[in-house]
Amino acid sequence: MDILVFGHKNPDTDSICSSLSMTYLKNKLGYNATACALGEIRKEAQFALDYFKVDAPKIINGVEADDNVVIVDHNEYGQSADGLEKANLLEIIDHHKLGGIATSVPISVRIMTVGCTCTIIYNMYKENNVEIPYEIAGLLLSAILSDTLLFKSPTTTE
Ligand code: MN
Ligand code: MN
Repeated sequence: MDILVFGHKNPDTDSICSSLSMTYLKNKLGYNATACALGEIRKEAQFALDYFKVDAPKIINGVEADDNVVIVDHNEYGQSADGLEKANLLEIIDHHKLGGIATSVPISVRIMTVGCTCTIIYNMYKENNVEIPYEIAGLLLSAILSDTLLFKSPTTTE
């Protein structure tokens, strides 16, 4: 199954690294996933991509009605791709307050009160016994350091 994976508009490091690491995991699990970004890559995320030699996600503006979609690091229409209401939303992985997305069919939702979406994705690698390659580990750590402000943010968890 083809799947698009993306974080929120005006993407931060977590949205970029979550989409890339979730895409890698989905592909290991037999899907044909593509990492996307809803906007230009900012300096901090670009630094992590350059450092770990990972290609940037493909920049998209919206999604089509028949697109299969996994969203990470957000769960609100206002922060998401144009057309999301009509797309086939499969899954949400996030660490923010609930933002009111409704669906017509059951979907997988993983929302936890942790410092970073990549914290959750790290756990999903463990649960699925998928080995984390060096560059994906680097992206996960980059996002965790960024979202927790070097573990100083009040959202930081053990
Ligand atoms: Mn974010
Ligand atoms: Mn985040």
